[in-house]
Amino acid sequence: MMNNIDNLKKCLPTPCYVIDEAALISNLEILKGVRERTGAKILLAQKAYSCYSTYPLIAQYLDGTACSGLFEAKLGFEEMGKENHVFSAAYRENEIDEIISYCGHIIFNSFNQLDKYREKVLKAGKKIGLRINPEFSTQEGHEIYDPCSPASRLGITRRNFRDDDLDGVTGLHMHTLCEQNSDDLEATLDAMIEKFGDILEKMEWINLGGGHHITRPDYDIPRLEKCIKMLQDRFGLEVFLEPGEAIALNAGYLVTEVLDLTENDMPIAILDTSAACHMPDVLEMPYRPPLRHAGEKDEKPYSYRLGSQTCLAGDSIGIYSFDKPLSIGDRLVFGDMAIYSMVKNNTFNGMPLPAIVLLKSDGNTETLKEFGYSDFKARL
Ligand SMILES: *Cc1c(COP(=O)(O)O)cnc(C)c1O
Repeated sequence: MMNNIDNLKKCLPTPCYVIDEAALISNLEILKGVRERTGAKILLAQKAYSCYSTYPLIAQYLDGTACSGLFEAKLGFEEMGKENHVFSAAYRENEIDEIISYCGHIIFNSFNQLDKYREKVLKAGKKIGLRINPEFSTQEGHEIYDPCSPASRLGITRRNFRDDDLDGVTGLHMHTLCEQNSDDLEATLDAMIEKFGDILEKMEWINLGGGHHITRPDYDIPRLEKCIKMLQDRFGLEVFLEPGEAIALNAGYLVTEVLDLTENDMPIAILDTSAACHMPDVLEMPYRPPLRHAGEKDEKPYSYRLGSQTCLAGDSIGIYSFDKPLSIGDRLVFGDMAIYSMVKNNTFNGMPLPAIVLLKSDGNTETLKEFGYSDFKARL
């Protein structure tokens, strides 16, 4: 039988992230289809996923990388080497030259920044974009992910846009979505065009940011493609998308071992992982990660609160239920752990960082990274 995560989990070091190459490829095939049918360019937003060992694979399907500053710009340049777009809320003077050297598109968040760095970018023969804020919220519940929330620092609103200061500006950038479907994109584009349609007429390209959950089974791809074609036909624009999540959605696991079983009002399992350290979005977003072969609380006969080794009282992943009682030494496999996990993890409480293993599409595994005490010590 072909190796999969269930029969491999016993042989892996724990805790460890496992990148599922076959799942990654199936996402990339979907994204490549959008590119081929529309001519839009799709970039990997490295903020969500920067495991560069897989960049050569990703490069076979996508157009390049999107970056949030110098380090991501350098990584995309070194490891992907294709089209590279950068957006930062503000650029440091001592970094801008190097950033320009790595990126073809430099996107500014204000006219101050544009005026400060315009000549440098143009002299280097690179393209300039401005991030706009269409002031159209389509997200409910988590304001932390909504760049259109009141007093947002992200993007220039129409009122603050200087129509007479666009020398050298060839594109606009917009990022307002998070894990959303294309109906929200469509509504946002209507609002954006109402405000910025006259500016778009003068532009050559638009970058629609990320937050497009394109590889989710219920995502409406034809509607996305309609939106792209509308921008191409009506305004003659080159269209870019820079999804992060969609590229490695459901393409990774976090394997952990049960270290102890205790009891306080209900059964508790202590794992050798940590929500705070290894899957911070579980606490920050917050969300409940999927766990293979487990159910909701009380859905199966044996429910446990799954908690971590750390001293943080709230470092718990949630209550899950199982067909059989858990035993010390059991391996558990959390799903959807490729995105916003490795890029956000930390060594709080002296927790070790999980190893990173690639589960190749031929069933073999390759350990990409292992970490130890020196990774904890070196940062302090
Ligand atoms: C976060 C972000 C992305 C990627 O968003 P996903 O939700 O991971 O698709 C793309 N562009 C910008 C500017 C971002 O801030």
